Amino acid sequence: MKVKWNLSLLYKSSRDRNVERDMRAIERAYSNFERQYKSNKSYLKTETSTYRALCDYEKLLKKVAGIKPYRYFDFRMELDSNDKYADSMINKLSERISRASNRVLFFEIALGQLDEQTKTRLLKSRHLAKFRYFLEVRFEQSRHDLSECEERILSLKSLTSKSLWVRGAEKMLNSQTVNHNGKSLPLSEASNLVPSLRTMPRRNLQKHINEKLKSISDFSESEMNAIILDKKIDDSLRKFDEPYSQTVLNYENSKQTVTNLVKAVSDGFGISHRFYRIKSKILKLKPLHYADRAVLVNSAKNEYSYVESYNRLYRILKAMDSRYAEILSNAAVNGQIDVYPKKCKSGGAFCAGTSGLPTFVLLNHVNDLRSFTTLAHEIGHAIHTERSKQQGVMYEHYTTSVAEVASTFFEAVALDAVISELGEREKIAVLHNKIQEDIATVFRQVAAFNFELELHNSVRDRGMLSRGEMAKLLVKHMRKYLGKSVQVSDLDGYAFVSWSHFRRFFYVYSYAYGQLVSRALYERYKKDDSFIEQIDKFLSAGGSDTPENIFKSIGIDTSSAAFFKEGLKVIDTDIKELEMLVK
Ligand SMILES: [Zn+2]
Repeated sequence: MKVKWNLSLLYKSSRDRNVERDMRAIERAYSNFERQYKSNKSYLKTETSTYRALCDYEKLLKKVAGIKPYRYFDFRMELDSNDKYADSMINKLSERISRASNRVLFFEIALGQLDEQTKTRLLKSRHLAKFRYFLEVRFEQSRHDLSECEERILSLKSLTSKSLWVRGAEKMLNSQTVNHNGKSLPLSEASNLVPSLRTMPRRNLQKHINEKLKSISDFSESEMNAIILDKKIDDSLRKFDEPYSQTVLNYENSKQTVTNLVKAVSDGFGISHRFYRIKSKILKLKPLHYADRAVLVNSAKNEYSYVESYNRLYRILKAMDSRYAEILSNAAVNGQIDVYPKKCKSGGAFCAGTSGLPTFVLLNHVNDLRSFTTLAHEIGHAIHTERSKQQGVMYEHYTTSVAEVASTFFEAVALDAVISELGEREKIAVLHNKIQEDIATVFRQVAAFNFELELHNSVRDRGMLSRGEMAKLLVKHMRKYLGKSVQVSDLDGYAFVSWSHFRRFFYVYSYAYGQLVSRALYERYKKDDSFIEQIDKFLSAGGSDTPENIFKSIGIDTSSAAFFKEGLKVIDTDIKELEMLVK
């Protein structure tokens, strides 16, 4: 079993001649497709010729899939941020790749520009059944396409009207520091530190951070107004009804699903209020401050070494489906899991899977319970990725809204296996921390969605909002989900300055959606372990249909309001258990 990435699965070294050879092959594949189809539009005339073109397009995607040369240097950077050669290669390669892939943009645009009658005919064609969903998505998105010339202008202008604003804000945030114990800390480091401090220093540090955020919020006021107005302009040109419509379309969900989700969770804020009431009791802090909301309760120091964690997870997976255990053991044997923290290695954990290439998992294992559940989480991603490969290159990629379903499902299974072995005091800690994460993923993200929506609508109505008004709005929505046990001060509202997800419009809902679906799958699995066969259908489905249809095919209706309430009930039950333990 290896504990370091074996990047020679991709290339022998960074000077491997195959890097350039593969890169040229990718560029050639794009140019060949362009040469064959760009000026000759006859492939749009008959079903047979469209079918042939789509098959060639599929072949092209297969050839360029994974962009192996780029991946390789990207992974090297993940292991060592000081790898200067890798850094310069990434810049060079990404420029070459975008130039090459731009050559075939015309193809999907041309499909989108077909007349309605032809579109309907193609969707009904049996001959084209294999490409039906691909075409359906393309046609749906094309309703919001503009002319090629307008698209080009918007794309060029997006740099100055959004990207540079957001990058400017990031740069400014990255250069800020706050004082803590006589040391000056970067803002992000200070924010990460907050939950781990004792009460007084924690609240003090949060106050310093808030003051710092307020002091730079003049810039954020202009930034937020600019990018929100820019979106308003784009949305009206592209005929999107709601500020969140484009995101929902891109994530392949339906508007009904998202409005049901947001309503069900907002109506259920009382569940989250109950959690904070009991948290206030556990921490003996009345009231809790906003700075206290993410404080964890320390559990006993059980050691979870990597080898034990691996063996434990292997046994759990084997009992579910031996193919899942095999995905884990293959990854470990081949050197696809980089286990331990190291200087200059990326922090956190992730799983990177792309077509045609081995799936790599990065961890920073430090022998605690969290390290064990993180392993289960990332292997969950790996299982989803590997099982979905059977869909082939057109459909193996799953959409953002289901990206966290498999990972949180396996994480929950792993955590429950541990909880049952704990004593009462440890159980309180572990259960508390688990619920807190659920609340942050479900209720906090929906509160953030509500904030974002009101912010966009207000800016659209009134032309702009001041920084003070933005802060006030955030306070209002944070209070709604936190309830009376948590004091949110006016200054806390300046968190919008550094909340990066608000720059990725309405992305936040996908967290809540993924978590509630995952909980529902787990509940069904707990009642009947043969349900794993149905879950495997989801894990193997990739992006071959809308999430709604994929879940419907295994008996789950994620478009109904009742469905989301069912998921909330699970969290509610956990809170009841915690209340019992605390009494
Ligand atoms: Zn994840």
